[in-house]
Amino acid sequence: MHRNHENPAESIPFIQTHIGDEAMSIENLPAGRFRRTVEDFKCEHCGYEVKGNGYTDHCPKCLWSKHVDINPGDRASECKGMMKPLYADYNHGGYKLHYKCERCGEEKAVTAALDDNKDLLIELAVKVRRYKKLSTNRH
Ligand SMILES: [Zn+2]
Ligand SMILES: [Zn+2]
Repeated sequence: MHRNHENPAESIPFIQTHIGDEAMSIENLPAGRFRRTVEDFKCEHCGYEVKGNGYTDHCPKCLWSKHVDINPGDRASECKGMMKPLYADYNHGGYKLHYKCERCGEEKAVTAALDDNKDLLIELAVKVRRYKKLSTNRH
C-alpha cells in the first residue's frame, strides 16, 4: 500500500539556484606541471587549520603561503620561509596572488582559490593599482 505524501512541500519542484563560482570546479584546472599532494596544515601566520585538497598552497584566511615548492605542488624547496602576499591582479577570469618569500626573497604567483578571503583579495587588488600608478609616475 502506497503512503500519501506526508510533506506537501516535496511535490513542489526544486528550484535550483546556481551561483557562478560553484560551477567552476577546482578539478577542472589545467594540470600542467602541477603535482597533487593532499595534506592539511596549520597556517604559520594566523594559526588557521587549513584543510588541504591537494591544490591548497596558501591559507584561505590570511592568504599567506609557505615556500615549500620549486614547481607548484612538488614540495621540493628546502627554504620553508613564509611567503607574504604582496598584491593580487585579476586576469583570465580569476585572481592571481603574487608572493615574496620573507626568507630568500623569491617571488611567485599562484591562482587564488574559490574559498580565499575575498575582502583581503580585493584589498590586495587595490594595492596593485597603487603599485602600478607609482611605477608609471616615476618615469
Ligand atoms: Zn593564515
Ligand atoms: Zn624562500
